Amino acid sequence: MHLVSREYKPEDTVVTVGEVRIGGGHRAYIAGPCSVEDEGQIMEIARLIQGRAHILRGGAFKPRTSPYSFQGLGEEGLRLLVQAGRAFGLPVVTEVLSEEEVERVAEQVDMLQIGARNMQNYALLKKVGAQKKPVLLKRGLAATIEELLLAAEYILAAGNPQVVLCERGIRTFSGSLTRNTLDLSAVPILKQLTHLPVIVDPSHGTGRWNLVEPLAKAALAVGADGVMIEVHTHPQEALSDGPQSLKPERFRALAAELDALAEFLDGRSRGGANG
Ligand code: PEP
Ligand code: MN
Repeated sequence: MHLVSREYKPEDTVVTVGEVRIGGGHRAYIAGPCSVEDEGQIMEIARLIQGRAHILRGGAFKPRTSPYSFQGLGEEGLRLLVQAGRAFGLPVVTEVLSEEEVERVAEQVDMLQIGARNMQNYALLKKVGAQKKPVLLKRGLAATIEELLLAAEYILAAGNPQVVLCERGIRTFSGSLTRNTLDLSAVPILKQLTHLPVIVDPSHGTGRWNLVEPLAKAALAVGADGVMIEVHTHPQEALSDGPQSLKPERFRALAAELDALAEFLDGRSRGGANG
């Protein structure tokens, strides 16, 4: 029987990131820029989302489709992300691209992200499974739900039970109107099959900022344990993923609406924000 399965462990796993809990009725909003660009950018975004976001995201090592696109600030980006998180009391998550990075990054951040392009990088999965920080595992661009669960199984089998799954859109026939097709049916299916928390990334899932709000709400409505949303103060000037980034004030308004929705969904039995 697989470690990720509900049969193996019927009760929901609660993943703890810093002091933030995800799963078992606790919802978390992860927000921040696609990439850390400079000190002013990440500090300003962290300042403007704190109180509404629970976890700060920001890419330092970026998996870009083109080798000529901005590749992230690397070590310096990591340092700036950690500094911004500390300054505003937010735990931080960032992506690791290679096995060699894992230990060094894990020492500094609160959660490690495995990106869609690395969902089946088994050496990397084993490596993040062999360390103690929680892992955010994103679904591959063309991965089935079973493949996502087996990727998570690698991490659990290597000794790390703290895994959050993330639906971030898959390749279908969406053409140019959306970047991917956000597979919201994956959420209730995953919630039935596994005890691990499931969150949704409507930013990469759609590629368009004006689709993020409706799909974030839909994500909670279908049972997601949280959302991950890209936020930038100047989306037009962003070095990556500007078109899908919300301005901080829009993120704050959305988070308030998500709290209200969460309260409705819980039948007022619990608070909305990470309650
Ligand atoms: C990201 O969240 O920074 C990212 C690169 O997303 P994905 O791996 O889902 O494309
Ligand atoms: Mn991005």
